[in-house]
Amino acid sequence: MILKVSELKEHISQPLHAAYDGRALDLEFVDFHYLKNIVFSGTAERIEQTLTINGSLSSEMEQCCSRCLECVATHIETPVDLTFAIDHRDTIDVTDDVRDLLILNHPEQFLCSETCRGFCQTCGKNLNHESCECS
Ligand SMILES: [Zn+2]
Ligand SMILES: [Zn+2]
Repeated sequence: MILKVSELKEHISQPLHAAYDGRALDLEFVDFHYLKNIVFSGTAERIEQTLTINGSLSSEMEQCCSRCLECVATHIETPVDLTFAIDHRDTIDVTDDVRDLLILNHPEQFLCSETCRGFCQTCGKNLNHESCECS
């Protein structure tokens, strides 16, 4: 998302909406698999040489459970609270910061559910679907 400073009136919080393709943001590595566009919805406000962006990023992501390896679609929502120094520039590119936020808020370990039982270490059965005789 590239913002034009001249289009932002000072001291007026303006609505801001943008949609990103996960691939365009270079987030399709490891297990970052977005099923939908990443949508930003919020506001932008300019006060002198400072630009503040508030809102949230939401999307749907396919994540694979680190215990049972099952992949499920989950809704993600990341709060956005960014401040930029305008520095007399005409345009401000916030794409890198958006990408950083998405990476920072990505859980390192995803579990399909808190109670996921994963695989049996001995027989390899998925204990969410079946039980086994191992101790
Ligand atoms: Zn699981
Ligand atoms: Zn077993």
